[in-house]
Amino acid sequence: MKKVSVIGAGTAGLAAAVRLQTEGYDVHLYEKNSKIGGKMFQINEEGYRFDVGPTIVMTPDIYNEVFEYAGRDPKDYIPMQKLDPMIGVTYRDGKKFNLSNDFVELIKLLEEESEEDTSGFIKYMSNIYERYLVAKNKILNRSYRSLGEFINPKSLLDIYRLKTFDNAYNEMGKFIKNDYLKKMFAFQTLYIGISPHSGPSLYNMIPMLEMFYGIWHIKGGMYSMAKGMADLFEELGGTIHLNAPVEEILIEDKEAKGIRVNGEEILSDYTMVNADFPYTMTNLIPNEKDRGKYTDKKVNNMEYSCSCFILYLGVDKAYPTEAVHTFHIADDFDRNISDIFDAGVLPEDPSIYVFNVSQVDKSLSPEDRDSLYVLVPVPELSLFDEWTEETIQNYREKVLNILTDIEPFQDIKEHIRYESIYTPKMFEENFNAYNGATFGLRPSLFQSAYFRPHNKFDYADNLYFCGSSIHPGAGVPTVLQSAKLSVEELLKDDREK
Ligand SMILES: Cc1cc2nc3c(=O)[nH]c(=O)nc-3n(C[C@H](O)[C@H](O)[C@H](O)COP(=O)(O)OP(=O)(O)OC[C@H]3O[C@@H](n4cnc5c(N)ncnc54)[C@H](O)[C@@H]3O)c2cc1C
Repeated sequence: MKKVSVIGAGTAGLAAAVRLQTEGYDVHLYEKNSKIGGKMFQINEEGYRFDVGPTIVMTPDIYNEVFEYAGRDPKDYIPMQKLDPMIGVTYRDGKKFNLSNDFVELIKLLEEESEEDTSGFIKYMSNIYERYLVAKNKILNRSYRSLGEFINPKSLLDIYRLKTFDNAYNEMGKFIKNDYLKKMFAFQTLYIGISPHSGPSLYNMIPMLEMFYGIWHIKGGMYSMAKGMADLFEELGGTIHLNAPVEEILIEDKEAKGIRVNGEEILSDYTMVNADFPYTMTNLIPNEKDRGKYTDKKVNNMEYSCSCFILYLGVDKAYPTEAVHTFHIADDFDRNISDIFDAGVLPEDPSIYVFNVSQVDKSLSPEDRDSLYVLVPVPELSLFDEWTEETIQNYREKVLNILTDIEPFQDIKEHIRYESIYTPKMFEENFNAYNGATFGLRPSLFQSAYFRPHNKFDYADNLYFCGSSIHPGAGVPTVLQSAKLSVEELLKDDREK
């Protein structure tokens, strides 16, 4: 039985481990932390449970596929329900929308705002759907080894059909003029840590995915996905090693031979890395010559996604929010975005995302109480790193003050009974996220597809990568896809041996 070492029990590492174990390899998963899940970890304190990172479940088929691959029924691991409304959006002037997953309701809501923009919305969705099909079938579902695979007459036509050179916001402006609606379909690029003003327009497919495939809730929260994959992996005979920080990937003569963990060398036929790619280059492969173009300088000069400041609040009352996921958009949205991505300062008037999971899942908080997750997109650490205790407390206060202006959270300050805070520094320390960038390398045009780090490493054999900074990119469904592509690359090489 051939042996595979997987580094990191995050979303992608767990999915890769399940697939490899299903294929009959002897898989050992090494996780530096005492818990599995990586950013898909869950805080469980005083009866309040909070997903640390991902909360929004889109494209559920991709989640289900991991379990189906191993011949299991996903419902036994990740029972899901569709949310309606999918998301709420509010503006500081009191305007609000609750987006229904019922098309009839959705159109009614848009028509009340503007018939012309409703027509624009329909054309816009059709336009993105066509480009999404090209992206899904020609780019996201395949991996790259050589430039020739990416740039050839056929693929150039596909790239042209993607029409992704304009930025997300401009592209949408061609179809939708109403400022509220534009903002409502723009903030979703923040889900993968990029600016709607400079991120490729293809990422407008995120709101399209919401509208067409819905937003779902997994019973027990997103962590059920991580736990379900870990349980399945062990049922299949795989081994998880916790508190096992990998210190080095052993490379000899351009071949990965194994890893060093807690001072011990462990040899394996293949190594699959889920730890963040830029961190892995600069920390786990000490000899720059073994990393090809990914020198310290190159890694440092790459572009990174934004980060997040998150309050996890256990409150002693139930707040009846209209939606489970609500985005409270800043008055000056453009300034908010440029603070995060250009100026590198903490937004003075930030947009805020509130996840009130207790609205849909009572198992995640004590009776008649809520577990609230309040997220603010902030710059990654190379742009802003002054996360002192004073900064944290001041920013916490600012966020709570904004919240107290929003229905129904006016009295929230008096009702906080449990509290935990995550800053970009914690994402760096806890999960080795380079620059604390919560979504890894930024998926700018020249860090996407062929130009993103490859699933099979270019500079050493038997070494594969999956996760946010790898092709096809960040977000739970996308990193599940990266795990799939990386395992396919490994299988292809192994079968050719
Ligand atoms: C705040 C936040 C909100 C998000 N919201 C959403 C959302 O709503 N929907 C969505 O789809 N996506 C969302 N995402 C994105 C999604 O969570 C990520 O893209 C995905 O979970 C990342 O998985 P990963 O496997 O790439 O990385 P990680 O989860 O970071 O996994 C990497 C693992 O490697 C381990 N590791 C690192 N170094 C070592 C080492 N030396 N030795 C051993 N182990 C090591 C880490 O501890 C970690 O467990 C969000 C992310 C964040 C942070």
